[in-house]
Amino acid sequence: MSAKIIDGKAIARKLRAEYRARAEVLQTQHGVVPGLAVILVGDNAASRSYVRNKIAGCKEVGIRSTLIELAITATEQDLLRHIDALNADPDIDGILVQLPLPPQIRVARVLERISVDKDVDGFHLYNMGGLVTGGTVFSPCTPYGVQKILEHEQIPVEGRNVVVVGASNIVGKPTALMLMQQDATVSICHIKTRDLGQYTLLADILVVAAGVPNLIVPQMVRTGAVVIDVGFNRLPDGRIVGDVDFDGVKEKASYITPVPGGVGQMTVTMLLHNTILSAERSRGGSVGQRVTD
Ligand code: NAP
Repeated sequence: MSAKIIDGKAIARKLRAEYRARAEVLQTQHGVVPGLAVILVGDNAASRSYVRNKIAGCKEVGIRSTLIELAITATEQDLLRHIDALNADPDIDGILVQLPLPPQIRVARVLERISVDKDVDGFHLYNMGGLVTGGTVFSPCTPYGVQKILEHEQIPVEGRNVVVVGASNIVGKPTALMLMQQDATVSICHIKTRDLGQYTLLADILVVAAGVPNLIVPQMVRTGAVVIDVGFNRLPDGRIVGDVDFDGVKEKASYITPVPGGVGQMTVTMLLHNTILSAERSRGGSVGQRVTD
């Protein structure tokens, strides 16, 4: 069997066209241009590149972006003051603080200061809790991107065995919770899991987000499984690879996402979606709606 290679770029392009149309409706019918504020602390090259992509994505779909850059020596109070001002600014629909932050700043305090209704990254404790109860305001972008890929490929989730490898707060755990909300039977594996392959072999849908190149080899994958590789690793020779042995596993899986060109394209796309959704809710007539569409 040779897997269908899921084209994340094409899915992202299609979704962005839909979101651009929604942004146009906001502008023509309500005179509103959705606004995203991005805060970057310090000058980490990878963070700067992620921020550049997000700002380019905003431009593509008609979101006005504002970049606030703070020095690496900024204090937690400096950052919280900026967040307070953005929370109160009616022209800002979404606030994103680019992670990681320098050690003098407590990430949890920062994320919890962002208004839940502007938390387009979906990292606020309320939004995380909403993943458990099914009433989140904004779904976190990477897990939401995984969900959208499955939807786009019409891969059913209900009743299927999903195994998520990696249990971080921003990818593994929220992905598991979102797929559980869709009535999958979900297992979460992490660094302490004994005999990882014993679990991954059970997966109808295997989502890998560990940050370890070649962690998943063909012997660990059931024939016909759907394999979603969230991993994004730069090798010493400069190549970008995921967590899955792509060449080997694609001969066993029914669907597989490549790296690059798979999930990565979706993360920013879902951020754009959340920002437009926020603008629609606050000014387009569905104020206070607390569900994801
Ligand atoms: P993270 O915070 O480092 O979390 C990795 C998780 O994987 C942790 O739960 C870790 O367990 C677990 N893990 C590590 N090695 C493992 C192993 N050998 N077996 C089983 N579990 C293992 O990373 P993250 O932020 O979730 O990101 C994961 C990967 O996705 C990275 O490659 C990252 O670059 C990529 N990523 C991609 C996108 C995208 O848009 N494509 C977005 C976000 C992240 P412990 O915590 O117990 O050590």
